[in-house]
Amino acid sequence: MPESAPSVSLGDFEITLIQDGVYWWDGGAVFGVVPKTLWNQKLPADELNRVPLAFNCYLVRTDGHTILIETGGGDKMDSRARERMRMPAEPSRLPEVIARAGVDPESVDLVINSHLHWDHCSGNTVKCGGGVAAAFPRARYFAPRAEWEHAHERNPRDSVSYIDANYDPLVENGQMILVDDGHVVVPGVTMHRAPGHNRDMMVVTVESQGATFCFLSDLVPGVAHLQPTWIPAFDLFPLESIETRTTWLRKAVEGDWLLGLGHDCGQPFVRIRADEKQKFALKQSATDN
Ligand SMILES: [Zn+2]
Repeated sequence: MPESAPSVSLGDFEITLIQDGVYWWDGGAVFGVVPKTLWNQKLPADELNRVPLAFNCYLVRTDGHTILIETGGGDKMDSRARERMRMPAEPSRLPEVIARAGVDPESVDLVINSHLHWDHCSGNTVKCGGGVAAAFPRARYFAPRAEWEHAHERNPRDSVSYIDANYDPLVENGQMILVDDGHVVVPGVTMHRAPGHNRDMMVVTVESQGATFCFLSDLVPGVAHLQPTWIPAFDLFPLESIETRTTWLRKAVEGDWLLGLGHDCGQPFVRIRADEKQKFALKQSATDN
């Protein structure tokens, strides 16, 4: 029996959360300059000051396509790293997680990576006989071109976030297409550059019959980050993050968009409003208007 994964109809699309587990990361890094006395009320830390971050992936299904946005934490972290992040010793297998949600993983024909940090694309490939193989053999993969170039610059600040085995074999065999701002994956599904977290991360909009879903990835990792100034310490360009986040959240309020957040454990689908002080706040329920 498939488990019931949170799922929402949006025009001609059906959008399903595929949560590929949870990892725990230092709360100070997740909330940057925000004092712990404030963030700990929203997301309580464990005894090692870590807070939970889900690997949120979304399946977008239409008549013609099954599109997977993000592929989670994958199987390439060693046991020490997994323990440090409170991840289960055994890696999850994303195709199996998708199957448990009642969707045939073989049906995935398009995969989108918002950016190439390990926690967003490690399930692109699976370890196999000393190398790796595509986790979704019949899929075309899409990732931001400039992000891929940056990954190969190996900047000491963020090189640890990149594992080439997650994307290079797919670029080499022609399965991964590197794209620029505004790339339309299929009609209605578009990748948009949204700088701040890093230079070339993209958010993904899914539009059908006047309704919009937007996957915000690390632009807004969780509901605690709806506050534009609550910027993670790992964002490379924090001032730009504030600006980009404000721009996209305003669009979401104006259009009453359904939003997907990169790492929220409990609220995979949200809608937001601007409150009396023009701060962003959750609407009661994401699935009714
Ligand atoms: Zn992330």
